[in-house]
Amino acid sequence: MEELEGILKRGMLTISVTNKCPARCAHCLAESSPDERTTLTSSKIEGIYLQAKALTHIKNVVFTGGEPTELEDDLFNAISSISVDGTPVRVVTNACWATDEQHTKAMVTKFRESGLDEINYSLDDYHAIWIPPENVIRAYRASRCQGFAGVVIAVAEGPKSRYNLEWIKKNVDPEIQVTHPDIQYSGIQNTPSPDGTVYQAAVHGYSRVGRGHRMRSDLVVLRNNLIDMDVPCPEILDQIYIDSEGTVGACCGIRITGNSVLSMGNALQEELADVYARATSDVLLRAIHVLGPGWLLKLAKSRDDTVKVRDGYTNICEVCEDLTTQESAINVLSRAREEIESAIHSKLANVTIPVSA
Ligand code: SF4
Ligand code: SF4
Repeated sequence: MEELEGILKRGMLTISVTNKCPARCAHCLAESSPDERTTLTSSKIEGIYLQAKALTHIKNVVFTGGEPTELEDDLFNAISSISVDGTPVRVVTNACWATDEQHTKAMVTKFRESGLDEINYSLDDYHAIWIPPENVIRAYRASRCQGFAGVVIAVAEGPKSRYNLEWIKKNVDPEIQVTHPDIQYSGIQNTPSPDGTVYQAAVHGYSRVGRGHRMRSDLVVLRNNLIDMDVPCPEILDQIYIDSEGTVGACCGIRITGNSVLSMGNALQEELADVYARATSDVLLRAIHVLGPGWLLKLAKSRDDTVKVRDGYTNICEVCEDLTTQESAINVLSRAREEIESAIHSKLANVTIPVSA
């Protein structure tokens, strides 16, 4: 079996520290809400970090959720211990705590005092239903000149979005630098401002995954021939991703809880090294990386007509969710293991293998 390129190449550990969130956004890929209860403690987070460090060089740690500040002191303790160890930490938050100037300043100060390196604020039309966009404005302004390496507004937008890049430039920061996933993944960095911080709007399109699975197609940007392009996934297994139950995921592109393909084990119950040794020899994970989820979904559809394929997709994570959450598709593919392994081998040897019925 060939070695796969790109495994753990990003040196990143992303931990979804809770699935609890004061919001219940209609497009939430993690399907978080106030009713959810799962959270990690700081000692569990630190244990996961030490395991990850033993497995690979960790260049940065990202805390996401749900809403990470639901962890209260456990979050700040975890940021502190990882920062003191010399690894930069980023928190992704919806700014629900930025309700007035006083609370906002106190929270930003607490983040910096705990050693937080980068803060990401989430904003879009669906967030705005639950969290006033003024919170993001307040939090962004309070975060300026505080010594962060990066202050980012992550904005998802579609053709009819009100809260989009234009809105951010008009209402938050006309000088904000703009990035999008293609730039991020190519490793190009934006330039720090004179105070040393990179101020950035990270713009991406809506993805109809998780709770957003049934978003109307006129609210997203569809690429009608995406499934035919056999786009391989460069992100699968490229970083360590752990959810709030300790489940180790192959990526953070879609919800991995309950996903039998992308859930690879549990970091609270076994060594991460064992999880990765198993995952890198898993035929479906290898195939998503080399052949792409579209190739696999078409193969499944060609063998079982009940497998559902949508007319258009916004990105390959949507294709991947359709692939990995349909029992019929997984059953077909588990019977075609040898054929898939042979296609992986041929692709790595630069031979094109057409999908045949
Ligand atoms: S998208 Fe973010 S803010 Fe909205 S429910 Fe999910 S975790 Fe909470
Ligand atoms: S295509 Fe699949 S494996 Fe790759 S990032 Fe998206 S959901 Fe994850």
